[in-house]
Amino acid sequence: TFNIVPEKREIVNEIDFEALEIIDEPKSLKNRPPVVTIMGHVDHGKTSLLDYIRNTRVAEGEIGGITQKIGAYQVDYHGEKITFIDTPGHAAFTAMRARGSYMTDIVVIVIAADDGMRPQTKEAIDHAKAAKVPFIVAVNKIDKPGVEVEKIKAELSAYDVLVEEWGGSIVFQEISAKTGKGVPELLDAILTTAMMLELKANPLRKAIGTVIEAKLDKGLGPIATVLVQNGSLRVGDSLVVGSCFCRVRLIKDDLNRLVKVAGPSTPVEITGFTDVPDAGDKFMGYDDEKKARFVAEKRKARKITQLRKGTPGVSLQDLHERILAGEMQTINVIIKSDNQGSSEAVKGALEKIEVEGVKIDVIRFQAGAITESDISLASASNAIIFGFNIVPDSIIKRKAQEEGVDIRVYRIIYDLVEDVKKAMKGLLKPTFEESVQGEVEIRQIITISKFVIAGCYVRDGVVKNDSKVRLIRDGVPIYESTISSLKRLKNDAKEVKTGLECGITIENFSDYKVGDLIQTFEMKEIKGI
Ligand code: GDP
Repeated sequence: TFNIVPEKREIVNEIDFEALEIIDEPKSLKNRPPVVTIMGHVDHGKTSLLDYIRNTRVAEGEIGGITQKIGAYQVDYHGEKITFIDTPGHAAFTAMRARGSYMTDIVVIVIAADDGMRPQTKEAIDHAKAAKVPFIVAVNKIDKPGVEVEKIKAELSAYDVLVEEWGGSIVFQEISAKTGKGVPELLDAILTTAMMLELKANPLRKAIGTVIEAKLDKGLGPIATVLVQNGSLRVGDSLVVGSCFCRVRLIKDDLNRLVKVAGPSTPVEITGFTDVPDAGDKFMGYDDEKKARFVAEKRKARKITQLRKGTPGVSLQDLHERILAGEMQTINVIIKSDNQGSSEAVKGALEKIEVEGVKIDVIRFQAGAITESDISLASASNAIIFGFNIVPDSIIKRKAQEEGVDIRVYRIIYDLVEDVKKAMKGLLKPTFEESVQGEVEIRQIITISKFVIAGCYVRDGVVKNDSKVRLIRDGVPIYESTISSLKRLKNDAKEVKTGLECGITIENFSDYKVGDLIQTFEMKEIKGI
């Protein structure tokens, strides 16, 4: 049986629940497992270490061996649980990792023994320090011949990180993610650190936590991996997640088992959302479904106004200026495509582009149509959306325009890559779109000496003296050019509007026929679509 202890929430403003001070009765607090994030430079072995730990668990026959990668998992070690967050080791996720460290109790900084401290190692240490999260240094790849571990201790100390042997407090563990050497000692060190942190939570309150990753599943709808940080998450709970509402339909643990409850420090996958939340979104459980729906609506409305007020997004067209102005070191990109394979191919191709001083961060890549959630993410992170083999509908186009988000669609990866390269170098030609101005009917042909003039009637819109025109005969466009002269009652006119007659001559054309239509249009430079 489950009793909800009356929760003491300092309700500042329910809409800003991230800012709420959550107070639990000391007696309702129970120990909870530590949440660990592994960080470090690319190729230093983060994934290998996570996989080694995960596989050991599977090898120990914890369950049929079906671990699904849900972005986080939990291991049992000496009867204690440890939760690992499997943040993508990619540089693209710096922002997410920065947030990641706030749901993390302990950071493991992986340093390859044969490579030493690198920029992302320093960045990871900075993140951990900034978030005041204790970290452990794991020096990896010690199975490699000729590695000099002492050198790394010196590098660390030069970066103000003093390991225990050097009189500091930082645990320094030599490991091999390949052979597993030192990994048990690393897990011990994690547990010792956790013990000192006295991590507690109240399993009897409604769940509070963070979204680790989220996506749209064809069958299940929006689906998210979340970390329960305090309280317990139950099937049927009403949550506000970022600016979405969620009535929890299914809860699956990291071993793909359906569960009914997930307690503190547990990563689970849940469904039941009204929309796809964003990675990093906080969530909170509500006792009252109506209240939760109300708060979610409010937050959504507020987010939209905030986004509208925000600075206009970045477009492919103005990349170069912003790079030159030093505003952009990172180009955030969202890729949507007809299938996951092509999303990955596009991602791979974009990440290979090298322009000095600028890097491309693919912040989301998914199969499927461009959604409002993509536009929100793009708007919030100044990202450009690339659609591959898909076309946004008019609602999405409008929304993108409102929020200043550039959507570019392509059918050929090469074209996409070329455009991005050109944009980065400032060589991209502006994109123009035809915008129809009006429609004119030719009612008589007037010949004055050598000149042939079309006597016209403006049926719709407007004709201007600099309009581009298309001559349509029997429904078929036969000629495209510009106006060379526009007259109204024998005088030159700048423009003639609906319902009026005018005389038109078209540049390099004189073969007018009564009944021909002249469509007038202009080419507008467009931002995105
Ligand atoms: P990540 O980018 O930090 O996630 O690094 P990966 O886990 O993908 O590892 C990068 C490369 O280093 C891969 O080729 C791994 O097989 C290799 N590697 C990782 N850990 C070890 C190790 O302990 N010993 C050796 N010899 N190779 C390792």
